Amino acid sequence: MHFFGYKGKNFHAEGVPFEKIIAKVGTPVYVYSLKTLKRHYKAYDKAFAKAPHLICYSIKANSNISVLKAFADEGSGFDIVSGGELFRALKAGANPKKIVFSGVGKRADEIEFALKKNILMFNVESPEELLAINAIAGRLKKKASFAIRVNPNVDPKTHPYISTGLKKNKFGIETAGALKEYINAKNNLKNVIPMGIDCHIGSQITQIEPFMDALAKTKDLLKTLRGEGLDIKYIDMGGGLGITYDSEAPPLPSKYGEAVLEATKGLGVTLIFEPGRSIVGNAGVLATKVIYTKKGSEKNFVIVDAAMNDLARPSLYGSYHAIKAVKATSREITADVVGPICESGDFLAKDRIIPAVESGDFLAIMSAGAYGFSMSSNYNTRPRAAEVMVDGKDFFLIRDRETLEGLVRGERLMKGKKRI
Ligand SMILES: *Cc1c(COP(=O)(O)O)cnc(C)c1O
Repeated sequence: MHFFGYKGKNFHAEGVPFEKIIAKVGTPVYVYSLKTLKRHYKAYDKAFAKAPHLICYSIKANSNISVLKAFADEGSGFDIVSGGELFRALKAGANPKKIVFSGVGKRADEIEFALKKNILMFNVESPEELLAINAIAGRLKKKASFAIRVNPNVDPKTHPYISTGLKKNKFGIETAGALKEYINAKNNLKNVIPMGIDCHIGSQITQIEPFMDALAKTKDLLKTLRGEGLDIKYIDMGGGLGITYDSEAPPLPSKYGEAVLEATKGLGVTLIFEPGRSIVGNAGVLATKVIYTKKGSEKNFVIVDAAMNDLARPSLYGSYHAIKAVKATSREITADVVGPICESGDFLAKDRIIPAVESGDFLAIMSAGAYGFSMSSNYNTRPRAAEVMVDGKDFFLIRDRETLEGLVRGERLMKGKKRI
């Protein structure tokens, strides 16, 4: 459930008409609803209220510091995948003791940064990474808590680019190998503490079964590890719960919670979850202006000022985003909604029935809160969009639109023949 919708003919975010935001900030602009963000976070938190648990919002889904602050204020932890995300989390007031660090390629400087900030734990994805963490922790005279990200070979039945828990995927360590690493750590690595088991099998998952299959394998490993005398305190189930973009019917967090709580009863662990999309996805909308319309012999094109650099998902995964008119109209057309970028892959919708818009009208691209701005780029030297947070009847600019000068910041003309 989200707080975007029409009041009369005008599309609103909570109590603010989109036209008002656009008049002030321009387009393209990402608009987030604070009430929706908080509602989704709380729904997740409540789903697991009966067991010790920690929600670690996955920053990569939407990393604006105002978004992070909204969750930090609710007591959320964070799942980070880079030193940059750790920096953002700390800027937003995150408690480092609630931060888990995932990712296959953590660099030494990132590991050191995280150790110095005393994060909760590292989700380790390879034997070499574990050795690196052990060595760096030793040098810093620290102990690093870790979980191994287990690759359970479970098919999440989602888009291949966002399935991560299959043997062919680059993520995690297969179960047998993980067991070996835990035991090696216990016996030989003095600066790391085996603390949890981690598993993240993919994204936009719309059924409970794949999560339960992965959890069953995690529980087997937990039993084995405890048999070996390891004191495992956390099971991290990752993120991945899907949302409704079109007609998908993913389980609500409450249903997911019921299933997980039933399956983990009496295990004596703290559960960690790393939701991203399911919290922010439907809490954000990308507003864009129609620049031109064009009739081809086969297709109608609606050319808008947002493009694949602003919202990559349609180009990248062929994803569906619902499209609404900022000013409602009952007439409809079938069109491709495309951006100005010089790539045929630059589209937001194909052969879609949309409101009949003309140049100068505005469209709202729905469900753009997750992997929207956070995946955006400057391709075609396009300044990245502004971001706005709506709170009731108020709205706040939470990221300036990029400027042309900003686009070339850090670039230099070569001076004479001088080299570095
Ligand atoms: C991306 C990611 C998440 C969040 O996934 P969602 O599908 O957005 O919930 C959680 N954990 C890890 C390790 C990730 O890479």
